[in-house]
Amino acid sequence: MQGLTTDLIAPRRRTHRVTVADVVVGGGTPIVVQSMTNTDTADVEATVEQVATLARAGSELVRITVDRDEAAKAVPHIRDRLVRLGVTVPLVGDFHYIGHTLLGENPAAAEALDKYRINPGNVGFKDKKDRQFGEIIEIAIRWNKPIRIGVNWGSLDQELLTRLMDENAACRSPQDARAVMHEAIVQSALLSAERAEELGLGSDKIILSAKVSAVQDLVSVYAKLAERCRYALHVGLTEAGMGSKGIVASAAGIGLLLQLGIGDTIRVSLTPEAGGDRTLEVKVAQEILQSMGLRSFVPVVAACPGCGRTTSTVFQELAGDVQDMIRERIPEWSQTYPGVEDLSFAVMGCIVNGPGESKRADIGISLPGTGETPAAPVFIDGKKAMTLRGPNIAAEFKRIVEDYIERRFGPASASLEHHKDSV
Ligand code: SF4
Repeated sequence: MQGLTTDLIAPRRRTHRVTVADVVVGGGTPIVVQSMTNTDTADVEATVEQVATLARAGSELVRITVDRDEAAKAVPHIRDRLVRLGVTVPLVGDFHYIGHTLLGENPAAAEALDKYRINPGNVGFKDKKDRQFGEIIEIAIRWNKPIRIGVNWGSLDQELLTRLMDENAACRSPQDARAVMHEAIVQSALLSAERAEELGLGSDKIILSAKVSAVQDLVSVYAKLAERCRYALHVGLTEAGMGSKGIVASAAGIGLLLQLGIGDTIRVSLTPEAGGDRTLEVKVAQEILQSMGLRSFVPVVAACPGCGRTTSTVFQELAGDVQDMIRERIPEWSQTYPGVEDLSFAVMGCIVNGPGESKRADIGISLPGTGETPAAPVFIDGKKAMTLRGPNIAAEFKRIVEDYIERRFGPASASLEHHKDSV
């Protein structure tokens, strides 16, 4: 019910469309969410489990580290095991330093991967650089795979940076070092892409990224990159950090770029707590896209922050319960009830904003604040539908949600629509 306006978002930049297995990136297609495992890829079981978990959480591409021969040898087994589990998410191999050797000596891995990510700053040094980069591109062409040229300022091509710094120093009015660094990042990506095209790789097989770890640098670098090419762009902060710091920085950086129409695929690079949930990065990426009105993944729950009018924990518990219930039920709901992800719910703490916000949601509940009559009006499609009382408000509200979804999206609603059409 609460449609998000996207009128203020700049039109998506026109980019080449890149097909990664059955996922399309760029060319105006929906922005793709991706993630990365943190298991040792040589550990087939652990990697399969984490890829499957990330895919089930909604990651549409999953990147795995391929750092040595054992990891490369494990890749086809990981692919086979995932297929047996019914997980078909495209796998991206992340290569540094010896990607040319690993891909050349492990054709089964080269074939099993759906995309190769290479970092031009780590592909080789001095005279080896061009040759090793060329070998990876030739392998990508042979196996018909797209690549991501992923520049990272922590491993920026030092020869290029030094050359640009020297040229800048010799200028009449030199730029500051930060601007030169931005230019080096952009040039590293563009020169590598140009070289890949010269070697025969199509522009529809190339995705670029240029990651930095500070929001304003990110915006500056991607704005330059977007202005100077039509390659599909993967967007994200590198080393975003832990917890709320990483989430906020990623949301700010990615959000600003999306607002400018920049970005065809995103990753939120969060550092998980020890033993923490790796799927958090997927949820945050989805929430960034959904909160900006760019894609829908799960029904939105609007909940007020609570204040001195909500002295009991009923309100927090119900808001948490509804959120958890939605996350838990959404995989099944989205199979059975297409369109359910566009629903909106409201769980409000008192009469001040409760009824108003609840009316604007598809289903909303306004709980009694301190000193109010112990009754919780429920609003459905903007109208007060019933009032819940007593100790089972949470369970009853969740049942009402389930019934509403069944009624609105279930087979009975389809036959009702059909009946309406035919009279
Ligand atoms: S709706 Fe009521 S409980 Fe919630 S923040 Fe506003 S005044 Fe406080």
